[in-house]
Amino acid sequence: PRPGEVILDARGITRRFGGLLANDDVSLSVRAGEVLAVIGPNGAGKSTLFNQLSGVDRPTAGTIVFRGQLAAGSSPRAMARHGLARTFQHVRLLPELTVLENAAIGAHLRGRKGLVAAMLRLDRREEAQLLAEARRQLARVGLAARCDDRAGSLPLGQQRLLEIARAVAADPCLLLLDEPAAGLRFEEKQELAGLIDRLRCDGMAVLLVEHDMDFVMGLADRVFVMDFGREIAHGRPADVQADPAVLEAYLGA
Ligand code: ADP
Ligand code: MG
Repeated sequence: PRPGEVILDARGITRRFGGLLANDDVSLSVRAGEVLAVIGPNGAGKSTLFNQLSGVDRPTAGTIVFRGQLAAGSSPRAMARHGLARTFQHVRLLPELTVLENAAIGAHLRGRKGLVAAMLRLDRREEAQLLAEARRQLARVGLAARCDDRAGSLPLGQQRLLEIARAVAADPCLLLLDEPAAGLRFEEKQELAGLIDRLRCDGMAVLLVEHDMDFVMGLADRVFVMDFGREIAHGRPADVQADPAVLEAYLGA
């Protein structure tokens, strides 16, 4: 993608669960080389929005255009193949596999073959390439020394970094991170912010949900604030931080 190109454009995203409007007419877009943070109180609808955008769930109404193609209703696998990678609010690794194997699964996803086909019919050269890519991504997040450890044996902060390495190993042009800084120590948060900044410099579009305000305000180009399923503010970090509607949502003032 060209720098500044619109990668994802979502219009009027609405998701109803029975009588609850978890997303209510939400519109946003993300460009290549940009970090957009989605913030808002618990239950605001942030994870639901990510599920609509990544094909995990289907919106009740609204349109999603991903890289110029209509995408609402696409499967997560189809979205992944077109260049979307995501992490989840709760870590989803294969705990019995090694750190390297978990990262290599991400590298598989960008191949044209399905994962199972790839595991069954991978030739030696391809396998070596995937492992090399996985090692490269692990080095990027500072986990190179943990390659042979069981993923489940890592502390939570490192498991989060491994999830991001796995997502990035798929070489996405859009990366969705759901609360990536949750449970990280201060130094790990700084490392993570540095990593996300480098991804942005490489031209990736990054959309992240995050609770840690300092983390968001220091990193995001734009901030999108939700409450009760709706947008309540949207703009540059400093402007959003000073917005009375945002203060009210957070402080209940
Ligand atoms: P956030 O990530 O901002 O904390 P969520 O998107 O997880 O919020 O949830 C938004 C609202 O939608 C909450 O009230 C939640 O209980 C509800 N919700 C989310 N997923 C479902 C579901 N699968 N079925 C019913 N209600 C749901
Ligand atoms: Mg959530």
